[in-house]
Amino acid sequence: MPKAKVLIVGASIAGPATAFWLTRAGFEVTIVEQAPELRRGGNGVDVRSEALAVVERMGLSRAIKERALVNQGMRFVDRDDQQCVRIAAADVERLVGSEDIEITRGDLARLLYAATESDVEYIFGDTVSELQQDDIGVTVAFTHRPPQRFDFVIGADGMHSGVRRLTFGPENAFRIFKHHYYAVASADLRVGEQHWTTFYNEPGKSAAVYRGEPGHGLINFIFHSVNPIDYDYRDVDAQRRLLRNAFCDLGWHVPALLDAADAAPDFYFDALDQIKLPSWSMGRVVLVGDAAYCASPASGAGALLALTGAYRLAGELSSHAAPQQAFARYEAAQRPLVASKQAHLFTYITVPRTRFGIAARNLFLSTSLPRTLARLPSRKPKDLYNYRSAPSE
Ligand SMILES: Cc1cc2nc3c(=O)[nH]c(=O)nc-3n(C[C@H](O)[C@H](O)[C@H](O)COP(=O)(O)OP(=O)(O)OC[C@H]3O[C@@H](n4cnc5c(N)ncnc54)[C@H](O)[C@@H]3O)c2cc1C
Repeated sequence: MPKAKVLIVGASIAGPATAFWLTRAGFEVTIVEQAPELRRGGNGVDVRSEALAVVERMGLSRAIKERALVNQGMRFVDRDDQQCVRIAAADVERLVGSEDIEITRGDLARLLYAATESDVEYIFGDTVSELQQDDIGVTVAFTHRPPQRFDFVIGADGMHSGVRRLTFGPENAFRIFKHHYYAVASADLRVGEQHWTTFYNEPGKSAAVYRGEPGHGLINFIFHSVNPIDYDYRDVDAQRRLLRNAFCDLGWHVPALLDAADAAPDFYFDALDQIKLPSWSMGRVVLVGDAAYCASPASGAGALLALTGAYRLAGELSSHAAPQQAFARYEAAQRPLVASKQAHLFTYITVPRTRFGIAARNLFLSTSLPRTLARLPSRKPKDLYNYRSAPSE
């Protein structure tokens, strides 16, 4: 029986993770990524709870731990660089029982790529321009290649998903504005303490530096905006200008951070928005990761949702001959986790809107945080449903 052919669009976290499981279940997988090579960039993302079980089953746990960021905690400073609050990661882990691993998005993407490149056909520098589906498959037109026929198409192409636009309609219908924008980049700055992330706030603005080993560091900016900003999310120079406009009047080390953002080849800017759709599939096209249910980078749950969604989607597709049944079960399994992560953003902690809010946040973190954390449900690693993979159709 011929193998079912699957096209996955997007080679970051959700795409290669879905490919990993599908190839092991006997599917023939192609991934198309619009960037000319695997994209670099991204600050630390957390691999936690059920995602720890996913990477364990992928055999990637050790490699992820080896590349984990050594992040000893968070420091909040004022404009004179005086420390206001200090939170050690070890104390938080002890209180909430977490075994989270923090790794840069770029390193996680590279590990997933390395784990799949020998079994998956990767196409870089191209994208889909048209999808025409019928009862038994999807004819895909590409921007630079001849059309091809697939049994399924999976959109793993992030918040601004092209697959979602072609299948479900314009982004605006599914995007929830959350009033913040963020920028991240790598930067080697001697700011703050080594292996700590140092935050500086002004009302509605946060600038932060993670200082790693010499030669390695990350910077992160977040700013509040009452209204959506009209910008082209593909125009990186315009995004750098937007960032500079938002932060040009700030002190501390912000001018050096802005210069570093200008120089960084992996500068990344986006909104801290969410994506919500009533259904994640239509016929033989299905979405996974941020394309389907971005919880916002402020949720800290992007990697968790991408890895668990990939595992569940591939598990259901390989267990059911009928795609509609598989997609319905994937949604039923993944939606509760998505809903819980979309319910909480922590911008009132990272980006207080007023001076009073900054002072209240600092007071809360230095006096009440341990009691609050001790009351939270345990964040110990959670296990997952075991799929009994059937051969592909
Ligand atoms: C460069 C980069 C930096 C990031 N930095 C952070 C960060 O610092 N903190 C954080 O919390 N989250 C960050 N994110 C988002 C984070 O990766 C996701 O929230 C999460 O990991 C889910 O991943 P995903 O694979 O669903 O989507 P994404 O990681 O957004 O990946 C989508 C992929 O699809 C590709 N793509 C997009 N459109 C198309 C198209 N039309 N055709 C083909 N390919 C397409 C993109 O180039 C990208 O490789 C970043 C994402 C990117 C791409």
